[in-house]
Amino acid sequence: MKKENCLTLNNIAAIIVLLLFALLLTGCHIHKYVDGVCDCGSFDEKWLKQNFNLEEEVNHIEINIDQDFTDDEICVVLRNSRTYPILNERHFLLNEKVILEHLFNEPKRDLRYTDDEWEKYLNNYHQMVIIHIEPQGKEHIIELIKQIEKLPFVLVAEPNYLTHLD
Ligand SMILES: [Zn+2]
Repeated sequence: MKKENCLTLNNIAAIIVLLLFALLLTGCHIHKYVDGVCDCGSFDEKWLKQNFNLEEEVNHIEINIDQDFTDDEICVVLRNSRTYPILNERHFLLNEKVILEHLFNEPKRDLRYTDDEWEKYLNNYHQMVIIHIEPQGKEHIIELIKQIEKLPFVLVAEPNYLTHLD
């Protein structure tokens, strides 16, 4: 009887050790957010809400490899924002060297707009980031776009369909 009790206690101890180990391996990591993103790839919900309209509907565009697009650029349209953050490489969670080009940052009020019109304009305003990468083929672009589309601040990600002049 005494021995059985002992075994049970040992079992419980073993289970606790296993649980702690599992916690360490999975969720037990305290995020360290810098500009809203942790190095583990997690985003700070508060930062996201403060900077982006997360209600906006997301477009996932079907990309066909046969279409004419460049293999060195990705165009990313950001969700609507009223704080106009300038995102950096860390936000895109890519494992390669990239150069970011920021377009359509904080808009300047055009005095021809009435208050209502300006409000409407701002509600439909989107910043854009062009991600320049080392060319590795069109398939690589499609792969990266699939990753980028999942980022919580991204509205649309697409290749650069601009046809180059001969
Ligand atoms: Zn983390």
